[in-house]
Amino acid sequence: MASYSQAVLDDIRTAVDVVDLVSRYVNLRKAGTSWKGLCPFHAEKTPSFMVNPKKGIFHCFGCGVGGDVFGFLMRQDKLSFPEAVRALAKQAGVALPEDRGGAPGDGGREELFRVMELAARFYAEHLWKPAGERARLYLASRGIDTEVARRFGLGMAPEGWDALVNFMGSEKVSEEALVATGLAVQRENRSGVYDRFRGRLLFTIRDLQGRAVAFGGRAFGDETPKYLNSPETPLYTKGNLLYAADLARPAIQTKNRALLVEGYVDCLMAHQHGFGETVAALGTAFTPAQLSLLRRYCDDAVLFFDADAAGRKAAERAEELLEPTGSGIAWAVSRTGAFEGGGALRLRVALLPAGDDPDTFLRAQGAAAFEASITAARSLLAYALDRAIADPEGATGPRSRVNAFARAALLLAKVGDSQEAATLSREAATKLGVDPTQLWIEAQRLQTALRRPPGPVTARANPPVSGPPSVERDLVLLLLHSAEARRRSCPYSSPPRTSPTAGSARSSPRSSSGRTRPRRAS
Ligand SMILES: [Zn+2]
Repeated sequence: MASYSQAVLDDIRTAVDVVDLVSRYVNLRKAGTSWKGLCPFHAEKTPSFMVNPKKGIFHCFGCGVGGDVFGFLMRQDKLSFPEAVRALAKQAGVALPEDRGGAPGDGGREELFRVMELAARFYAEHLWKPAGERARLYLASRGIDTEVARRFGLGMAPEGWDALVNFMGSEKVSEEALVATGLAVQRENRSGVYDRFRGRLLFTIRDLQGRAVAFGGRAFGDETPKYLNSPETPLYTKGNLLYAADLARPAIQTKNRALLVEGYVDCLMAHQHGFGETVAALGTAFTPAQLSLLRRYCDDAVLFFDADAAGRKAAERAEELLEPTGSGIAWAVSRTGAFEGGGALRLRVALLPAGDDPDTFLRAQGAAAFEASITAARSLLAYALDRAIADPEGATGPRSRVNAFARAALLLAKVGDSQEAATLSREAATKLGVDPTQLWIEAQRLQTALRRPPGPVTARANPPVSGPPSVERDLVLLLLHSAEARRRSCPYSSPPRTSPTAGSARSSPRSSSGRTRPRRAS
């Protein structure tokens, strides 16, 4: 293990501005001689994270962590001390003793990074060779500029089973390292490995430090799968990163907003049109980890969903962010789209015309129209509520209205702030053509049910089925899955009429079970 002399470490500390380093991850505001912002290491609403440029240190008065530039980077990017030293030395232009020799081993991670970087370079070079013509033609057909392709380090995996394996052999890379990085696959029933990516366009997925950690491979034609991605490796955990986050970070901070798109090409096209603050979700879901990553750099995130089935799925997954999590961070979103417990990230949804995604829209309509769609983006909650109200099959009539009522009530039940819930209930009720009070009461009732911690159901009134986690959850499920149950327990159908539950002695919003609610004679 390399140890670094005090002189070298001091050189690096002097050369790296701690405010500059930290502000790549945290929005800092000047506070006297120091800077402060939201702590990246614990969830907080008011800043207690201080950075002192004179002393070159940071300290959080909330969770107590503190240290110098090395300590910050180790904690932030989960690096070992030697990794942090090397990263900052490179940045500061300070030469390290090992720069003259081979890299010291530190648990193999450093070697895996080296292998990934070699692969990224190998694939990128292949793209611009004669054999890469197929990929270049594909890029041209998608309207991707050569300059953008180079900036993003796009690559092409050669045809054949062992192009990369052979190249790595010449670089003295072991088969174990190739398998560990997901670049090669172990042959079954015999020794040896073969290339995972063959004859594909490759998008390099990099961490926030710009290090290659995974690849996304797209087929040129009808080969399946259309997308083939790196598996999870010691360097890459799905859902923790965003495509192009390293390239987009400066623009995200400058513009104080991030655009989240679904596809690699959407992302490239957005950058090509001047939206350098664009990142792509890897896979179809936006995760809390990805959003908390964005929260460090900006106050506003705008999500783009395709109008197709995959886009709907992505929207559903984003709406799941409205669900309370068990991890302590409440991802509840207020009506303006602000997270209640996760700091100040507003989540909005931009809608493009049906059939368009950011890629096709930008090419057809241009940057100004795209910017207009960003301006018109609405909060995730308002968007989710509209989706809850709209019938998925486009049906109308009493039955679909009953279902819409149930979905809207369930969504409203997840709104933490009762004031908000009441306001949203009014909006939703107007759209549904129902009595707002009725909708609000139903939402409150479901909220009580959802919030009760799971546990033994003891003295609660006559549970219809026995067993955990709770009668109420069963009721919600029942309401969701059975139209009959909904009709019985949500007794309204024509708006202006006096609610049948009003005045009923058994209609308290705290009713624990649908069975205590009055039924309509049918
Ligand atoms: Zn803290």
